[in-house]
Amino acid sequence: MTTQEIAEFDKKYIINTYGPRPIAIIRGKGTRVWDADGKEYLDLFSGIGVNLLGHGHPKVIVAIKEQAGKLIHASNLYYAEPQVRLAKLLSEKSFGGKCFFCNSGAEANEAAIKLVRKYMKKNEKRNTSYECCKRTKNEKYEIITMENSFHGRTLATLSATGQTKFQKGFEPLPAGFKYVPLNDLPAAKEAVDEKTAAFMVEPIQGEGGDRIASDEYLVFLRKLCDEKGLLLIFDEVQCGLGRTGKLFAYEHSGTTPDIMTLAKPLGGGFPLGVMIVREEVAAAFEPGNHASTFGGNPVACAAGVAVLETIFEDNLLEKAERVGSYLLEKLMTLKEKYPFVRDVRGRGLMVGIELDPIRDKSVTGLDFEGKEIAEKCIEQGLLINCTAGNFIRFLPPLTVTEEEIDEGVHILDSVLGSAKK
Ligand code: PLP
Repeated sequence: MTTQEIAEFDKKYIINTYGPRPIAIIRGKGTRVWDADGKEYLDLFSGIGVNLLGHGHPKVIVAIKEQAGKLIHASNLYYAEPQVRLAKLLSEKSFGGKCFFCNSGAEANEAAIKLVRKYMKKNEKRNTSYECCKRTKNEKYEIITMENSFHGRTLATLSATGQTKFQKGFEPLPAGFKYVPLNDLPAAKEAVDEKTAAFMVEPIQGEGGDRIASDEYLVFLRKLCDEKGLLLIFDEVQCGLGRTGKLFAYEHSGTTPDIMTLAKPLGGGFPLGVMIVREEVAAAFEPGNHASTFGGNPVACAAGVAVLETIFEDNLLEKAERVGSYLLEKLMTLKEKYPFVRDVRGRGLMVGIELDPIRDKSVTGLDFEGKEIAEKCIEQGLLINCTAGNFIRFLPPLTVTEEEIDEGVHILDSVLGSAKK
């Protein structure tokens, strides 16, 4: 089909929740993709942080083909070898613990929210006398999340998300969430009350514009949770699995969570999410408490094993750190060149630039919105993205080269140059 034909069918048959731009990507290899009209793009956004090893990585393809030839699905009514192989790897490479597999980031966070509630209910029963239990029963269920956070689009994860713009129109939202400013230690402490069950935080807020939770903040939350008997959840759906130069972003802080969620890059492009939980907390879930028909699909898990093995075999953590620093340096030069670039931030290969808000063009000197700048880059063959209004971000595959970074930054530079008044 031509792009025009695909666009016509899309308009007729697909519910318009994404508002896609008129490009149909049909093929990819490494850091390049091609559209239905044969135009080539440099993909420094990896399908929103999913294609961690680039497109069509040979090890992922072999793993998928082999597993698809053996068994595509049998259900969670039986043991599944690819699932246990991946769970073992994830557990050994993280803080230990047990896995629950699902198909997306929102589902992994839903599982975490449910588990927190179940754990607190069980603990209340175990730790309190009957009289006390009657008084406090069901009270610890609230999860404190961060302003500007993003945790998903299901009702509970939308409620966990600290951004009203995503929530508007879907009220009433599930109760049990409150929000505090990121990196504000006193605010976190003050927010804890008798209802509090957990904190949930992205070590780097991706959709919020690569805002880093400081190491000090994560260590503080860990201590606060330990003191108050709360659980600590790290949402590493976007920042996890090597993107920041460590396998998990929390490793930069030297602290660990009780629960961690992962998704986007885990299945090498196959839908796959996971919640990893400290063993004692994981024991709160019993058979029948939670489930997913497709969760831990054998083909997705086989791809996941290939992704993790490749990260280590190809030394991609070191590469993410090295090439990430290179990209950051290049973006710094754009900040020096263009006064409307107000900040450059991120970690590893999760970095970007914040532009001045475009409300008053005469002040900022810019005549394009951040979104338009990203669009113009795409027109010129560079796939990147704008989030949080004015943050232009890169999420390249860990396999990206310095030359490809040069090429991408050159395109962004020329677009910013044309945006200057
Ligand atoms: N958590 C974070 C940090 C995310 O960035 C996202 C998606 O962008 C989600 C959760 C939701 O993931 P999914 O779209 O796979 O449901």
